[in-house]
Amino acid sequence: MPRALRGEGHRLRLGGRLGRAGDLVSGDARLPGRALRAAARGHLDRAGALVARGPLGALRGRPRAACSDGPPGALRGHLLPGARPRRDHPASRGDRPLHPSAAGRPRRGAAPRGDAPHGLRHRGRAAGAGHRVTTGALYDAVIVGAGVSGLCLARALLEAGEGWSILLVDGAQDDDALRTLSFWTSAPGPLDALVRHRWTRLVIAEASGGARSVTLDSHRYQTLFFADLQRTVKDSLRADPRHRIIDGRATELVTVGDRVRVTVGDEVLQARWAFDSRFRRGTFEVPEGGAQLLWQRFHGLVVCCETDVFDPSSAVFLDFRGDLPAGTAFAYLLPFSPREALAELVSLEPIDAERALRAYLAKVHGVAALEVLDREAGSSPMTEQYFEPFEGDRIRRIGIPAGMLKPSTGYALTRILDDSAAIVRSLRERGHPMVAPPRRRLYRFLDGVFLTLWARWPATMPGVFSAMFTRVSADRVLRFLDERASPWDLLGLIARLPLWPFLRALLSWLARRLRRVAAKPEPAYNDTTMKRTDSHPPADRSP
Ligand SMILES: Cc1cc2nc3c(=O)[nH]c(=O)nc-3n(C[C@H](O)[C@H](O)[C@H](O)COP(=O)(O)OP(=O)(O)OC[C@H]3O[C@@H](n4cnc5c(N)ncnc54)[C@H](O)[C@@H]3O)c2cc1C
Repeated sequence: MPRALRGEGHRLRLGGRLGRAGDLVSGDARLPGRALRAAARGHLDRAGALVARGPLGALRGRPRAACSDGPPGALRGHLLPGARPRRDHPASRGDRPLHPSAAGRPRRGAAPRGDAPHGLRHRGRAAGAGHRVTTGALYDAVIVGAGVSGLCLARALLEAGEGWSILLVDGAQDDDALRTLSFWTSAPGPLDALVRHRWTRLVIAEASGGARSVTLDSHRYQTLFFADLQRTVKDSLRADPRHRIIDGRATELVTVGDRVRVTVGDEVLQARWAFDSRFRRGTFEVPEGGAQLLWQRFHGLVVCCETDVFDPSSAVFLDFRGDLPAGTAFAYLLPFSPREALAELVSLEPIDAERALRAYLAKVHGVAALEVLDREAGSSPMTEQYFEPFEGDRIRRIGIPAGMLKPSTGYALTRILDDSAAIVRSLRERGHPMVAPPRRRLYRFLDGVFLTLWARWPATMPGVFSAMFTRVSADRVLRFLDERASPWDLLGLIARLPLWPFLRALLSWLARRLRRVAAKPEPAYNDTTMKRTDSHPPADRSP
């Protein structure tokens, strides 16, 4: 996605056409840190509004005829409907406990209003070098991490309209380079208003043998921009002084009695419940000989081409063509217009991704010349390892640390949305958010076999994916990948998959399990102290 769309991105490239934003950072400038970025927020939001009305190619503030011919209305720029908690709700008046253990006590969840910023009163020593200030307010929820799961949960809590006060700890760093979020769905969902593009045809291509296009019947594949999610959720939080967004990394999250304390810089803040999305890619591992672990590396380019080369009616879901390493890398392409697309290389092995992607675009799509408008990169662990969702009885993990990545696909958004809804439901119905995500042991087993096949016999994967999508209806495959398949769907799919590769993978998976039969696998996180510190974050988020 073009940088100007990022709303709160780190690098701005805004020109004269963006007016006020252009006054602040004319041309191509790097903003020095959060303070200036915060000061610029109003301008950025304004820029975002301008951006949302124009085609992607026009975002650089200079004429972009080549990429300005996208389908009219493709960038609709809808905003999430304002999600203001109702101030008159009993919860905000202090007569409804969030947790049974708090029954009978005066509720202290809503942050008190006062002269301090965000209506909070501070007690303790004045902020200064080496001093920690304990903030007196007790929030209903602290969300650590303003990434995908943190924002989706904040949004769900706001939408619930229960008046819960939220503290969002935003520790985003320069290497948080997620730009687009794609997912498939067959029903209306909470992020529909943010969706920028939809496709009802998917292309799957083996290395040789050409591309197959499959039409979705009940599903659609869709994409939204992370910056839109970020902007709308943060705007809603800022609109109500009971909430607070604090920029900085949480260095300590600890349960003390019936509350959680989070340390951010010099401040110690308190909440009734904590939601923790911190995930340490650099140190994550699974027990030796236990679950499979493959790192899916993403390298995406938003490209603008000089001629019409893409078919905007079809999303390229899995493409093994273009001389990519057999089975360990594939391309993925979302065309926004005939000339503009997000092209992504997904690889299980380290690879010169940009070179491979450019070669793929040239060879498969006939792209002679292109301009890179933006980049996205990152890595995700694909593993059937169990992720413990609780840290003690007041801290609920969310996102990747709660096992929200579907092991065999690397998609997480649908699960994150479901998990956010489950947390809100639990808060409403039971007064606490400590609900466990569904275990779905059958799917974890299937994921394990699938990952074993991919890890040990990658060259078979293009054929396996192709068989999946051509022998079975695409809607059925997507339901299966979403773990929503009926027993009938499941049987039909398994019966049509190539037998020998899966049998071999199953035997290999069983052999590995048997070798570990005596030892009980450790959970991915086995911290019993209910305390995690983050004083030495890994410098590199890649494995
Ligand atoms: C490049 C890429 C593309 C992806 N595309 C898709 C997709 O299209 N569809 C899909 O379903 N899934 C996708 N995924 C998978 C998954 O949805 C994302 O990884 C998603 O970001 C996971 O959400 P999360 O909240 O767990 O992690 P994150 O979004 O990474 O959020 C965690 C946040 O916590 C912050 N943080 C870390 N430590 C601290 C601290 N100490 N204090 C405060 N904050 C902290 C981080 O900076 C980060 O902002 C993609 C993954 C990658 C890497």
